[in-house]
Amino acid sequence: MLDLEAARQQILDALPPPAVESVPLPDTLGRVSAADLLAPFDLPRFDNSAMDGYAVLAKDVGQARAEAPVILQLAGCVAAGQVFAQTLKPGTCVRLFTGSPLPAGADAVVMQEDTRMETAAPGSVTFLDGAKPWENIRLRGEDVKQGSLVLCAGQRITPGRLGLLAALGVKDVRVGVRPKVALLATGSELVEPGAHDLGDQALAPGKIFESNRLVLAAWLKSSGLRAAVQPLTPDTLEATRNSLQTAFAQADLVVTSGGVSVGEFDFVKQAFAELGGTVALWRISIKPGKPFVFGHWQNKFLFGLPGNPVSAAVTFLLLVRPALWRLQGAMDVLPEMATCQLAERLVNSSDRREFVRVQVDRAGRGHSAGPQASHRLMSLANANGLVEVPPKSSIDAGTVVPVIQFG
Ligand code: AMP
Ligand code: MG
Repeated sequence: MLDLEAARQQILDALPPPAVESVPLPDTLGRVSAADLLAPFDLPRFDNSAMDGYAVLAKDVGQARAEAPVILQLAGCVAAGQVFAQTLKPGTCVRLFTGSPLPAGADAVVMQEDTRMETAAPGSVTFLDGAKPWENIRLRGEDVKQGSLVLCAGQRITPGRLGLLAALGVKDVRVGVRPKVALLATGSELVEPGAHDLGDQALAPGKIFESNRLVLAAWLKSSGLRAAVQPLTPDTLEATRNSLQTAFAQADLVVTSGGVSVGEFDFVKQAFAELGGTVALWRISIKPGKPFVFGHWQNKFLFGLPGNPVSAAVTFLLLVRPALWRLQGAMDVLPEMATCQLAERLVNSSDRREFVRVQVDRAGRGHSAGPQASHRLMSLANANGLVEVPPKSSIDAGTVVPVIQFG
């Protein structure tokens, strides 16, 4: 049985470098940059005012105070988006607004609140405070220097990065192609959910509504990926082989649930091998999620998740999602982590590392999300994080622990 980190590394190492495409900037949210990007020009692009106020020569207003004001002639007014055509002369000032370009010759801005317009003398401004050189000025290039690195290959494009790239006039970005994913659920007990109005009465004895594909499709969707959802597959070798074949014809990566354990009706590995696939790893020393399978077939990949809903969820978060990011070229692929302070003691009596479902509240306190058996959907529904508890151990209430976040 493999260690989680070793298994994840083996999977990441098996993945090819991403295919690359050029995408218009507005469509790149959540994509992974395929190249380093250098700033084509300085940001700000020109010296400009940080305030609504007046451009001056700092030495003109020098030591101005309310008791000893300085009066300067008003030489013009520059709204944001305009420019002052001349050079500021000593003894004069120019009305500016936040973002207005600094007139040539000026070296400070005095904020409006420190000035007074005399109605009796409309062409002049009274300064009640002084200014130091470069006060209230946003200097050209102070944010980003032309030629500096603004986006690295492997970084994800976030809303903040969209803003930076837009300000730099970037039109298209080279990003990793998103993999095509197929989702397949095996199990002769499974019935398509939501297909009936009758709820429980729609289910024949022994049958259950299928739920894994919806959970996985939702997480794929929130990562910007769309899944080709396959019809339910009963537990026969032939049906499993046929479903896998159909799924691989539609996708680069097939995620299955169920049928990877040791029972007589677990056919995923055998069916995959009969199609020519290679099972590269099976079974990981974690709880839940032990019977996880990873395999490859030509340039395509199989992620066989255990069928229990929580096992499928946990292995998806720990092993499949990192692979989906890496396939797009992301460097940082591990699940998002935060910390929480445990509100109660967590106990792991098994001999595998356990990923315990917790609900982290707004104060950062982590509560157990409920009973932890891997068929328990209620505690999955109530959880927003996983806390790892080492084998045969417990973590006391009050301990601050890392938590894998999910939503
Ligand atoms: P398996 O991994 O196929 O042995 O399934 C383990 C448990 O998970 C069984 O109780 C199955 O009924 C259940 N199960 C398997 N697949 C699903 C699914 N797609 N949705 C809900 N429960 C499932
Ligand atoms: Mg099954």
